[in-house]
Amino acid sequence: MTIYSGPVFEMAADQLTVVADHLNIPMDERDRLLMPKRSITVSCPIRRDDGTIAVFEGYRVQHHLTMGPTKGGTRFSPSVDIGEVAALAIWMTLKCALVGLPYGGAKGGVRVDLTKISRRELEALSRRYMQEMIPFVGPHIDVMAPDMGTDEQVMAWFMDTYSMYRGQTVTEIVTGKPVASGGTVGRREATGRGVAHLAKRVMSQLAIDASNATAVIQGFGNVGSYAAQELHRFGLKVIAVSDHTGALHDSRGLDIPALMRHAGTRGSIAGFSKEMEFDPSQILTLPCDVLVPAAIERVIDAEAAENLTCRILAEGANGPTTPEADLVLQNRKPEIFVLPDILCNSGGVVVSYFEWVQDLQQLFWEEEEVMRREYQLLDRAFERMLARAKAEKISNRIAAMAIAVEKGRTAMNLRGLFP
Ligand code: GLU
Repeated sequence: MTIYSGPVFEMAADQLTVVADHLNIPMDERDRLLMPKRSITVSCPIRRDDGTIAVFEGYRVQHHLTMGPTKGGTRFSPSVDIGEVAALAIWMTLKCALVGLPYGGAKGGVRVDLTKISRRELEALSRRYMQEMIPFVGPHIDVMAPDMGTDEQVMAWFMDTYSMYRGQTVTEIVTGKPVASGGTVGRREATGRGVAHLAKRVMSQLAIDASNATAVIQGFGNVGSYAAQELHRFGLKVIAVSDHTGALHDSRGLDIPALMRHAGTRGSIAGFSKEMEFDPSQILTLPCDVLVPAAIERVIDAEAAENLTCRILAEGANGPTTPEADLVLQNRKPEIFVLPDILCNSGGVVVSYFEWVQDLQQLFWEEEEVMRREYQLLDRAFERMLARAKAEKISNRIAAMAIAVEKGRTAMNLRGLFP
């Protein structure tokens, strides 16, 4: 029995079993690698605009504390539950280990429908959530960041709430803050830029010419929009994008800068163009060179995997591909080059790490330096993953996860069991 139930947690557990089998990890060690160290559930009461009180459930899961503080985003969404948050925390652990950050993984969430609360209520909820988390977080304990449904403003409220409690400004308590409040240049774009940078590397490896290539993006939030912008800048035609309101398609290539401006002011892609409207359920199977799922978990199941027509699958979202789909991808022809989520979207937490380092040192870098160092860490992890996949004849995902699990396991075993 465990409190972590549900399809997303089971998916993360299944992935770890595949990797543990590959690494021959003894059975009695596996639970220690899988089970989160701490989970916190809080209720967040706020006063609504009409004077009534509403209570929202919030979570934070800290997966393991072996490598240093825990790190990970906070998600505001109506479907969040503790199992999903735990799975996302496990993936954060793997992501941080793979690229070499001194963190364990964490994730948080509040179950809330953002379309049903006002901006003032959002501020009250953000502050109350952070206030409830104060006993469990700290710059050297657990450092939050944005995820689905949260942004720079929410991070500024988190930072302010923690700072008011401490009686001094503690910028290093969260990352993904506005640059004006101790954030770093290049964090907002970091995840999408990383996705596009790695996709470009794979394109040159497969001899795909960017100026003749096409991309399709599912999700136009922080990750999808900046991935689209960067791929567009590299010369690819972004022929389709979707978000929670619908999808747009234009075989001549969408005007991504205009769409970014539109989504920036309107909050979604809705209303951009009537004649480009497209069935969002068809987006993943549209023929293209680079497919970027940048929305939610488990969108590519076994059936979708059979029907994919892309050449490169660049996973911007966390957990977009199920283990059943992985089996299909490992055997299908023509082959699809998979950039697994824990590598492909790790640019976000990499630059979060740079933000934390800069805040601790009170020494800020130029954007050029942020980007150079981001790509350096991504390239290094990419090369290690490829070498491992080739040497052991395994998928990129198993290779990436194996590198990450080995790192955490070695550190855990060297420290030993206390007491
Ligand atoms: N939420 C992001 C992720 O899933 C970023 C986490 C962070 O920057 O700490 O990777």
